[in-house]
Amino acid sequence: MSQATARITALDTHDIRFPTSRELDGSDAMNPDPDYSAAYAVLRSDAADGLEGHGFTFTIGRGNDVQVAAIEALRGHVLGRDVEELCADPGSLSRDLVADSQLRWLGPEKGVMHMAIGAVVNAVWDLAARRAGKPLWQLLADAEPEWLVGQIDFRYLTDALTPEEALGLLRRGREGAGDRRARLLERGFPAYTTSPGWLGYDDDKLRRLAAQAVTDGFRQIKLKVGADLADDVRRCRAARAAVGPDVRLAIDANQRWNVDEAIRWTRALAEFGPYWIEEPTSPDDVLGHARIRHAVGPVKVAAGEHLHNRVMFKQMLQAGALDIVQIDAARVGGVNENLAILLLAARFGVPVCPHAGGVGLCELVQHLAMFDYLAVSGSTEDRVIEYVDHLHEHFLTPVVIRDGHYSAPTAPGFSAAMRPESVARYTFPGGTYWAACPDPRKGRAA
Ligand SMILES: [Mg+2]
Repeated sequence: MSQATARITALDTHDIRFPTSRELDGSDAMNPDPDYSAAYAVLRSDAADGLEGHGFTFTIGRGNDVQVAAIEALRGHVLGRDVEELCADPGSLSRDLVADSQLRWLGPEKGVMHMAIGAVVNAVWDLAARRAGKPLWQLLADAEPEWLVGQIDFRYLTDALTPEEALGLLRRGREGAGDRRARLLERGFPAYTTSPGWLGYDDDKLRRLAAQAVTDGFRQIKLKVGADLADDVRRCRAARAAVGPDVRLAIDANQRWNVDEAIRWTRALAEFGPYWIEEPTSPDDVLGHARIRHAVGPVKVAAGEHLHNRVMFKQMLQAGALDIVQIDAARVGGVNENLAILLLAARFGVPVCPHAGGVGLCELVQHLAMFDYLAVSGSTEDRVIEYVDHLHEHFLTPVVIRDGHYSAPTAPGFSAAMRPESVARYTFPGGTYWAACPDPRKGRAA
């Protein structure tokens, strides 16, 4: 006897904060003391399989409660949905959430509300992949191009990418996918590490971690820059000496500069051979990025972790403003919108090197990069996923890094589920960690 239609019965939310500011992990020129946090959402249903969908967005501490409230504002759109229909077409939910005319006023398609949509939509993708018994990268790579195109909202894109062009890219992208899949499973996807280069680390720690990264098989590291030029010159020199001439050294200003300042500063660091300058100025400044790019070559310009939707990526690419597209799994409206961004990058011939780190961003975005390799770009050349070695222990299926590469995840889903004991300990402010702090609202442990 068939079961009655299974429906979504709950959208649980959690405000999870980790006290990373104590060690200055994650510190950069604009974010000196982040407490890496996740606004975490869990979809439950009355299906007999008991499977849940997990999703989250990343914040850096204060305001994570605002992010959680935004996710809760979407609850009415999700409860009662038919699980089968939802998982067969996550794009329909994505469109409904973006089209809520009252919530749309808070964006549109940007900021807290859009990131909340991303968390919920990604939870649906996690559930869909679990039900299919596949890791998300494989679900996407196995999907028919027509279905993938149907998942994308082409509104505001068709002057740069039409559904027909997207279909053509996906059909071509599949050629040779079988061989690439075998290589992916054997070797993994190349990673680079940002762990040596946080701005709050002293020179000894920087040198030690940079040398260790090379020993661990990484062919690229990244340094935070932009607070003080003399310090940056000294740190870049130390890093270059530690890694040698052949390992790529990327630098990241986290939006610190005006356009002219970005050009001057990047040129001043050019002697250390930086591979890219990341987020040199405001993420909204399309023309500024284009000017910087034309002025600092051969240093490449990279951005994307704060580009709030597909329309921004479209403009950056149309303006010739980026050499590297840095998708983020939890900044835009979920997997569906990232499919659009991957195809835009392919359309303009720009490599995608995903942003990761934070809380669980490595776990999520590896799936999108692997899909890109298998079914869109067909290449790992000049493509690397960021890796940061913090907080993975809080996830049930953490990333596996082997010889500077991400191993392809094999567990069904989007690798988004957190350990229940971590949720209990780091829920803010009532979890056991924060409850033991004298004043958790100050964001620091005693
Ligand atoms: Mg960055």
